[in-house]
Amino acid sequence: MLLDANDVPTGETLSADVCIAGAGAAGITLALALRDAGLEVILLESGDFEDDANTQALYRGTMSGIDTWQLDGHRWRLFGGSTSRWAGWCRPMHPFDFERRAYIDKSGWPISYDDLVPFYERAHARVELADFIYDVDRIQAASGRPVLESPGGRLRTEVFQYSPPTRFGQKYRADLQAAENVRVYLHANVGNIDLTSNHAEVRRFECMTLQGVRFDVEARSFVLALGGVENARLLLASNAQLPDGVANSSGNVGCYFMEHPHYKGVSVWVLSRPTDLSFYKLHEIDLPQGRVRVQGVLTLAQDVLEGEGLVDFTASVSEAAIVPGDTGPIDAEQVRSLIRDRDAERVYQLYVRAEQRPFRDSRVTLRTGDKDSLGMPRVDLNWRLHPDDNRGMRRALELVGAELAAAGLGRLWTSTQGDELSWVTNPGGHHMGTARMSEDPKEGVVDKHCRCHDVENLYVAGSAVFATGAASNPTLTIVALAERLAQHLGEELR
Ligand SMILES: Cc1cc2nc3c(=O)[nH]c(=O)nc-3n(C[C@H](O)[C@H](O)[C@H](O)COP(=O)(O)OP(=O)(O)OC[C@H]3O[C@@H](n4cnc5c(N)ncnc54)[C@H](O)[C@@H]3O)c2cc1C
Repeated sequence: MLLDANDVPTGETLSADVCIAGAGAAGITLALALRDAGLEVILLESGDFEDDANTQALYRGTMSGIDTWQLDGHRWRLFGGSTSRWAGWCRPMHPFDFERRAYIDKSGWPISYDDLVPFYERAHARVELADFIYDVDRIQAASGRPVLESPGGRLRTEVFQYSPPTRFGQKYRADLQAAENVRVYLHANVGNIDLTSNHAEVRRFECMTLQGVRFDVEARSFVLALGGVENARLLLASNAQLPDGVANSSGNVGCYFMEHPHYKGVSVWVLSRPTDLSFYKLHEIDLPQGRVRVQGVLTLAQDVLEGEGLVDFTASVSEAAIVPGDTGPIDAEQVRSLIRDRDAERVYQLYVRAEQRPFRDSRVTLRTGDKDSLGMPRVDLNWRLHPDDNRGMRRALELVGAELAAAGLGRLWTSTQGDELSWVTNPGGHHMGTARMSEDPKEGVVDKHCRCHDVENLYVAGSAVFATGAASNPTLTIVALAERLAQHLGEELR
């Protein structure tokens, strides 16, 4: 059922088995899976079916760290959330992403890749993809296009599959409209998490609309699915009796914010002989269950990453002419000095997207005294990279260049300064880590079931719970975790 929160009488208390805040990829997946489990669900969504300037303005805030976009310009507050804009790149995380890597502080999740596989398969269907196949040999066999050879075995090719991309708000609107046990309230902003007097459980979500309606929702379990920044904002701003906010006895709420730093054209690759790179272009292939768009990307072998103490990354390859008079970070003179004879016809740029190390100082905090039109404190996002990240990325590209040279595939020019990359860091729109998953309550905010360590019936869905960000785009994992959470809630509440 789709309803308008402005029609709820002020002062009313609604109730359900599960109350979910936020109808993005995480919230909609969860609501659909709980519908199938037969639970009564209330899904509270701030926005409407279309963009609305006043609602979007609730996302405004400041960026005191890497300042590459505005907080209301890279996430979207409407039914369907940021899937209204996402590009659809999909790939699961690797088994090693879930394991502790000794050289990455705070790495390791309390769940394994195998725990998530059945849910990745369900998630694939939600994003309108069929075969859960990411094995490069199988994709390559279906593609028929060659994968780059790496004689030293140090270069690795990986693949992304592309969702159409699924716009969750449009794709699942009719399903939610028809669901008798799911009530979706549009224009419903959760403004406070009210706890019981011992702070051990949520009593209710306090809600408001921009038109001034106020009401509460009671439930057996509550889920925050507001996105990586907003989940932290609501936890930090809620329950005035707790000075550090809700579920924050460890002090970790808002900390360890991670993105995927994007370095566009950071390296220029001058191929020294004709080479078929078409596997690294977006193309369609036939897999057993249907046609899918795929693209190859380059990275380093896992043992090289481990041996060098590097985080993971992917690099896509695109043709790019370096013309005389070029300005900007690519030093055209230096690049031209690498070009001989007919090489100029084979100049490519690498677009690198990297994992970043969990870094406590990279964080979301509240801006005291600066409130939005609903009276909620706005946030500051201090997105920062660990100093080892830039140095590591430079080293990683050095190794890629050495391997390409060893394979007789030409030369790589990378923009560097000292032992670091010299480049403008762009974001991916991936907001991770602000309510991280941990075994030890002192190290994180939620446990392996995405339940807050401090609050018995409060859960977090979305990439806020990521303990590490990996080099995969996050949405497939967000949806898989939401499917897993739905199974857990179904078993617990039935
Ligand atoms: C330009 C762009 C391109 C991207 N491309 C990719 C890609 O190719 N691959 C990939 O994996 N990811 C991509 N992403 C990231 C992807 O969009 C997000 O990972 C995903 O949408 C997050 O889903 P979510 O449900 O966790 O959060 P959101 O989509 O942020 O949903 C949160 C929901 O909560 C609602 N809400 C917020 N506050 C409140 C409140 N107080 N009360 C009630 N409701 C509230 C919002 O309106 C929203 O509907 C991209 C992002 C951007 C910006």
